[in-house]
Amino acid sequence: MKYKVILMAVFTAFIFSACQPKAQETVESKLVKETLTKETRDAMTPDDVVKSFMDGNERFVKGNLTQRDFVAQAKSTAGGQHPKAVVLSCIDSRVPVEYIFDKGIGDIFVARVAGNVEDEDVLGSLEYAAGVAGSKLVMVMGHESCGAVKSAIKQVDVGSSNVDHLLGQIQPAVEKVDGERNADDKNYVANVIKENVHLTIDHIRERSGILKSLEDEGKIKIVGAYYNLGTGKVDLLK
Ligand SMILES: [Zn+2]
Repeated sequence: MKYKVILMAVFTAFIFSACQPKAQETVESKLVKETLTKETRDAMTPDDVVKSFMDGNERFVKGNLTQRDFVAQAKSTAGGQHPKAVVLSCIDSRVPVEYIFDKGIGDIFVARVAGNVEDEDVLGSLEYAAGVAGSKLVMVMGHESCGAVKSAIKQVDVGSSNVDHLLGQIQPAVEKVDGERNADDKNYVANVIKENVHLTIDHIRERSGILKSLEDEGKIKIVGAYYNLGTGKVDLLK
């Protein structure tokens, strides 16, 4: 009896180890190693890029993310990059931009600052992405329940001129949205977050001649978006 148990154990271990490389091969064969080339990126229109974002977000929502070989992608982009878009997003840990659009290494530039507001440094980064590196889309993305926006609504004072400056950047959106200034009112907060995205886009157009010209010439698109925390879905803003 003892021998039978040992034999079964040895046999099972043998079968298991024999199967291992095969399972590994199947996983590896599904891994995407390629990265975005200049030719592929340049052939895309701004609308193609928007579509690739929304398709990627649909895969994220469905739990169907592309499997990537990040080591191979890191190697293949080491000599250069040709990202198709630049996203200005919040620093919030619940908004991992590449994941929610199912993008890999070399696909997109991401600028992140609390409350996704613009200043000279952010504008310079967006201009570099679209004006120099050739990205076709500038996306400003706010998100549900943004702590920075809630803090601006509550006029939080933490005794820091840096935080005051940042929250001051969001204040115009708070002032523009009608309703009681209540950071616990989800609808009101969502409206301020969306207004903040719209105002940021207005400022980008006003303060960056480069991006305004590229947009007027149809070479890039500047769009606003809103990320829903619970569902993972991104809505484009009109
Ligand atoms: Zn936020």
